[in-house]
Amino acid sequence: RLAKPSQIYAPLRANSQGVEFGDRRALAALLEEMDAAREPSEAEPSAATKSAPRDAASPIDGARVGRVIEADADNVRTMMAAASAAFPRWNATPVATRAQIVESAAGLLEARRGAFIPLLQSEGGKTLDDALAELREAADMCRYYAGQARAICCEHRLPGPTGEDNRLRYDGRGVFVCISPWNFPLAIFLGQVAAALVAGNAVVAKPAEQTPLIAAKAVALLHEAGVPRDVLQFAPGAGDVGAALVADSRVAGVVFTGSAEVAQKINRSLAAREGAIAPLIAETGGINAMIVDSTALIEQVVDDVLASAFRSAGQRCSALRLLCLQEDIAAGAIETLIGATKELRIGDPRELGVHVGPVIDDEAKQRLDAYIAEQKSLGRVIYEGEAPTSGTYVAPHIIRLGRVSDLRQEVFGPALHVTSWRAEEFDALLREVEASGFGLTFGLQTRIEERIRFVAARGPAGNVYVNRNMIGAVVGSQPFGGFGLSGTGPKAGGPDYLRRFVRETTVTINV
Ligand code: GLU
Repeated sequence: RLAKPSQIYAPLRANSQGVEFGDRRALAALLEEMDAAREPSEAEPSAATKSAPRDAASPIDGARVGRVIEADADNVRTMMAAASAAFPRWNATPVATRAQIVESAAGLLEARRGAFIPLLQSEGGKTLDDALAELREAADMCRYYAGQARAICCEHRLPGPTGEDNRLRYDGRGVFVCISPWNFPLAIFLGQVAAALVAGNAVVAKPAEQTPLIAAKAVALLHEAGVPRDVLQFAPGAGDVGAALVADSRVAGVVFTGSAEVAQKINRSLAAREGAIAPLIAETGGINAMIVDSTALIEQVVDDVLASAFRSAGQRCSALRLLCLQEDIAAGAIETLIGATKELRIGDPRELGVHVGPVIDDEAKQRLDAYIAEQKSLGRVIYEGEAPTSGTYVAPHIIRLGRVSDLRQEVFGPALHVTSWRAEEFDALLREVEASGFGLTFGLQTRIEERIRFVAARGPAGNVYVNRNMIGAVVGSQPFGGFGLSGTGPKAGGPDYLRRFVRETTVTINV
């Protein structure tokens, strides 16, 4: 049921894991489509506000991308009231209709790729292959959750003694608040919203402050596909808008992707409210490690490390942060890795062949620059790439650490930490990696089968990748999400995701 890359992305062989340039003519056609579709972009809340509009600037060069009006506490209440009132009717709409609407949104998204891709690039700073992979993932999410809803969100007959009729029914819970990040402004935004809607909920969606324009386009698409306007409300804004939404007593559930710190705040806010207990579905970050032993294939390791650490400028929750090389191969592997990292092109992501685009904004750049300066002063930086001096570019860096525990924070950008370990330290190393408290992605590169079985059984993170890169989980094949400080589950793009969005009723009738 999922999108076939060959049909949709003829120009490039794509899945959410990667894209290769293929048919040149088809690529030219895509670029033409992108040129023809350029249009002004606007984002504004579903309910009127007195907030003044602001210009949204591109992380690539600071150019104006569009106009944004942000929500405020007053119109958040208006939107919440409208969504609440709309919920019963939407929940009573047959699941087949809801599923068909969400599927047709996926179709529209593919048909409009020419308009979405330039915006993913200008507002989100994405390379063409990242933008295409994200479009594909967004469409996959819509189709996957629609299929899940058809199977789950209906009445199921259950066994019981003669004379008793038992049924289990799944409905929407009410109004879901969806709060999404800027690093997947389309796929995660649409994934959360599509899941909540197709399960029968009304939605108030707050996109990341940095990427409201893409989100506004996705909302317009869902409305066009047939989601009633009052059922899906749009609330662009900063953290205060999210806080006001979460504090509202009408909220029946929250789905959030972002930092562990904000997830904890949401948890506390939900717990402090009067009234019903609402669930939080949170996907947060990770200090993701890859352990490489001396039996691994170094060329493969280097390819996978480059993709995992530097693709999307390292701005993925799943990205590799800490590479742990067995001592005997460490020096050679680091040399090869530095050689390969030097080949990466850093610059305007709209140029074909650029590997690393900008980080999302000035604040992110300043944070990363300060972190790198600190690591330099500690004498730890062993490779420093070169980045354009204008725009918010951060070049790939490789930082050598003495111990795993020297890395205490998630560094959300193209900074890879490397450490080494001795053969007898494998178990201790694994324990140290686990001691971070996060558990999102984990990589292992080895040819020792027993080691693969051991790590697979232990499950040091929610997504374990063996002898491959650690990013680009594919909907329906690699359900994505972690545990501990990395999130609550259920996994996005997995068979259990929708179950947290529904209310269950068991009806027993004595016949
Ligand atoms: N699902 C994405 C991946 O596997 C990461 C999502 C995120 O960064 O939040 O790379």
